[in-house]
Order: sequence, then C-alpha cells, then structure tokens
Amino acid sequence: MTKFEALGLQKSLLDAITDMGFETPSEVQEKAIPILLETETDLVALAQTGTGKTAAFGFPLIQKIDSNSRTTQGLILSPTRELCLQITKEIQAYSKYEKNINTVAIYGGASITDQSRQIKRGAQIIVATPGRMKDMISRRLVDISKIDYCILDEADEMLNMGFFEDIKDILSNTPDEKSTWLFSATMPKEVSIIAKKFMHSPQEITVGTKNAGTSTVQHEYYVVGGRDRYPALKRLADTNPDIFSVIFCRTKRDTQKVAEKLIEDGYNAGALHGDLSQNQRDLVMNSFRKKQIQMLVATDVAARGIDVDDITHVINYQLPDEIETYTHRSGRTGRAGKSGISMVIVTRSELRKIKSIERKIQQDFISKKIPTGMEICEIQLYHLANKIKDTKINEDVETYLPAINDVLQGIDREELIKKIVSVEFTRFFNYYNKSKDLNTTDSRDRGGDRDYSNRGDAPSSGSVRYFINVGEKDGYDWMSLKDFIRDTVGLGQDDLFKVDVKDSFSFFNTDATATDKILATFNDFKVDGRFVNVEVSKNPGGGGGRRDRKRSGGAGSGRDRNRSGKDKGRRGDRSFAKSENSGKRRSNRRKSDFF
Ligand code: ADP
Ligand code: MG
Repeated sequence: MTKFEALGLQKSLLDAITDMGFETPSEVQEKAIPILLETETDLVALAQTGTGKTAAFGFPLIQKIDSNSRTTQGLILSPTRELCLQITKEIQAYSKYEKNINTVAIYGGASITDQSRQIKRGAQIIVATPGRMKDMISRRLVDISKIDYCILDEADEMLNMGFFEDIKDILSNTPDEKSTWLFSATMPKEVSIIAKKFMHSPQEITVGTKNAGTSTVQHEYYVVGGRDRYPALKRLADTNPDIFSVIFCRTKRDTQKVAEKLIEDGYNAGALHGDLSQNQRDLVMNSFRKKQIQMLVATDVAARGIDVDDITHVINYQLPDEIETYTHRSGRTGRAGKSGISMVIVTRSELRKIKSIERKIQQDFISKKIPTGMEICEIQLYHLANKIKDTKINEDVETYLPAINDVLQGIDREELIKKIVSVEFTRFFNYYNKSKDLNTTDSRDRGGDRDYSNRGDAPSSGSVRYFINVGEKDGYDWMSLKDFIRDTVGLGQDDLFKVDVKDSFSFFNTDATATDKILATFNDFKVDGRFVNVEVSKNPGGGGGRRDRKRSGGAGSGRDRNRSGKDKGRRGDRSFAKSENSGKRRSNRRKSDFF
C-alpha cells in the first residue's frame, strides 16, 4: 500500500497520482486528506506556498463529488487569474481517470459568455476569482446554491487584495450546510474573522511555520541588563567577523547614537533614518550594498527600502512595539534562498514579548548567551588564522622582502606565527580580558514566565524604599522611570512599585531581595555625564519592611567592587556609560522621535 493509498484515496486518484509522479504525500496532504475524506467538517489549514495545498483539498474534493450529478458541488475561490488557471489544470490532471467530472475556471479578463457556456454544460467544480464570480452570480450565470464544498485558497492573499466584501457576498449565495475549507499561508486578523464568521468550529491544521516568518531564518535572543545592550551588540558583532547586518533601533535618535558609537569603536557602521537627507541616505545605502558598511543601523521605516539580499544577521537592538514589525525586520535576512539569523537583545522584563512573537511567527526562539570575552578572542583568533591562510599574496611585496627578512631574521616559524597572530589578538585580548559576563539569567530556562531571579529562593523579607536623584525635570514620569530602573537593573515587570516622581528626585520600592543589586547597579552610574544615585530611603512613605535600612553595607561593598578597577582598559567602558543616554532618552521619547 502506498502512502497515498493509506490516506484513503480511491484507485482512480491513485492512478492519476502515479502518473503525476507524486511518491509521498506532503505534510499538509497527509494531515488534511484523511480529515476531509472521513468527515464533513470545516477546516482551516495553514501552510506555506509550495507545500502542495492544491492536492490537499483537490483529492478529497474529487473523491467526494457525485459525478452522476451535473450540479455544481464544489467552489474554489482563488486570488488571481494565474492561480485560478493553475488550480484548474491541477484538478483536471488529478481527475483524469474520473468519468464525467468537469472543472471550469472563471476569472476576469476573458469572455464571460464563453465561461458561462462552459458552466451550462455542467461543471461540478468551479475554480474562480472572487471578482468574476460575484459578477456572474449577479448576472445569474452560475448557481452555487447547492454546493457542498467551498474552498478558500490563499485566503490571506485574497483578503490582502481587498476581496473581503466579494467573498462575503459570494458566501451568502451558498447553502449554510456546506463545508468550508480555508487554506492560507498566514493567519492575519482578517482571515480569522472570515473563519469565525463563515465557518462552524473548523478543525485546524498547521504545517511548519504558520506565519510569514521565513523558515530559513533562525531566531535567537540574548538576555542582558538594560544598560548592557550596547556592549552586547559589540560582542555579537565581534563573534561574527564577517557580519553583514541591519541593526534595528526604535527611534531615530537611538539609531543615530548606536551608529555613531559603533563607528567610534572602529566598526564599519552607518545610520539610516528619516532625519537624513535623501542624498545622505543614498550614500549610506551605496556603501552598504558595496559592503563597506557591515552594520547598518536603521529605523523600521527607513529600512523598508533596503533591497539587499545577502544580509547575514538582523539584530534587534530593541524590540519593536508591534509584533508585526518584528516579522518585517527578520524578513530582511534569509532572503533569496539563503539562511539568516535574527538576533534579539532583550532585558528580562521583555521576555514575555519573545513569547508573543513565537506565537505569532510559529517558530521557537533559541535562547543564546552573549559570548564571553575569551570566547570572542578565540573566534577572532581562528578568523585571523583563516584570513592569513586565504589571503592572496600581493606580488609587489617581493621588492621589500629582503629588507623585511632582515628585520625578521632569527625568528623561527612558530615564533613568527605567534607574533603575527598576536598583532590582532592582543587588541581583542586587552579589550576583553577580565570583561564581565553580560548575560542575565533567563527565567524561561527555569520554566517560568515570572522573574524570580532577584528573589532567589528566599522568602520575601519585606519591601525597601529608595531615593533616586532624578525626577520630572529630567523628563521622567512614573512609568518611564519604572521602565528605566527596571531595564537598567534587569528587574522583572512587577518588581518595582510605588514609584513616586517628584520634581528633581523620586522614590520607588522593591522587594528587599533586590536591594543589593539595585545599589550595586547605581553605584558610580552616569546618565548624560551626570551621576544617578540611588539610596535606601528613610522616608517612610513607601511602606513596608526595612524602609530605614541604611546604605552603609551594600553601598560600601558596592563601591569596593567598582567596575573601573575591574574592567580597566576596556574600550567599552566609555560607551558603557554613554549607552545609558539612549536608555534614558528612550523613556523620555516623544512621538516625533519615531520615524
Ligand atoms: P501550494 O498551493 O501549497 O503553494 P501547490 O499545490 O501549488 O502548492 O503544489 C506545488 C507543487 O508541488 C506543484 O507543482 C504540485 O504538482 C507539486 N506537488 C504537490 N504535491 C506533491 C507531492 N505529494 N509530491 C510531489 N509533488 C507534489
Ligand atoms: Mg496554492
């Protein structure tokens, strides 16, 4: 028994299948055919193009048609004339061993008289575009009042093309007790509306990725503290020496700042956003196309015009507000049959957004760790070795060789290699040596959506109120301040409460278990060159627990752990403090900051 036979298909169809050279059913066929053959049910099937949807509904439809009756029993709606003709041809090929099954195509741009004549001869199956179908219904050239099966093929496309009203009209001319089978590559709102409105508890099958998220794209996320976004971005770039990427920020200002910092730090970067003149944008895009720019930092709107195929990485420096936007971003890579990676830098409080995106794109993210400094050194080292190996020798060097040989005289091969490699390696080594781990524990790894990491396993020891020396005049309201502190420290969504913003200072509360972390974070911490200072407050206003706790212990030891000693010589330190600007401004942003 062939696999097609096992699905319950009849002999005449199996013969046609053999003729067509189909050997094994595709996934959507395997899932849909038995359901449609065995039951009278409505069905929603989500599968990408090219997965064999036509046969998935075509085989069962043919098998269920009563060929002794000339009544129109099946209607297939499809968005375009081309698809309409293609489906008709496929159905005709599948049904070539059926006696008396007639399939007729109805579409615009061809003679309506010819089409109606074909229908009069008896068409059990009609394949139609919505526009022409509606037209023919209103002229009473077709009768679909007795159909048993209505198939909406490429439903998302049809709705995209504005056929919603036409489809509604057409369906109102069909009997209630028919079965409706909806096939679609994606499931946007409009499709679910159709499904809800016109279908009765449809069975649902999904094949591979449900939504447009290109399957050749791997999605990764990296959890870091809010103020580690920039150093994390640099590490991601350093881990991928041949990166050719678009980096997405939420605002024009962040876009500009991140690009500037990358350039300052020696990367081939450029900014693309709406505050640039057309001329400037053209220049940036030209350099990007020529790969003189390896990291293009862009706003969502500006990136719409990017028509470059071989982008290796999309990096979400910040997640977009709309999940839909994420799909557009990640779709910039993995084009033209190439694979690509979409990376997201997130803070723990944003992890639930990752979940929503996963649901939307029907693809799981891989939780990844920002590589440690030493891992990056290793990668760079091998990259360098390979680069040396692959370098085409420039023969013009010949002239200088005697002199060079003189200089390098007495150094053996092994030592020479060490020295050559050290030229590059030392740069990275000095930068990354003793750099800290940027990863924040991913609470999802521990199976929970909730962020407990600040609480440890210890029971809550009451809440602590803090004083922070920023307030309204720094542009904060309680929501933006809460965001800022939460992202900066790496706290969970609900870990901060009772945020009171005054004119030039503010108060907030957390669980006592977060105190050390907060004080350590805001130790020696600058925004726009100004120290942002947090102290445990004596102000009783916040209520609860150890509100009178003094800063002494935590702060003192925090100061001893001062980062400047530990990370001495880090290139990133400067940008580190500066990267806070973007954090803060993000909180202050106005509508006009967006493109
Ligand atoms: P979709 O509608 O999902 O975009 P189609 O139904 O147009 O996909 O099928 C895509 C191509 O794959 C067609 O050329 C079709 O003949 C072929 N095809 C469909 N099912 C099979 C199968 N089981 N084995 C081999 N080829 C198949
Ligand atoms: Mg199709």
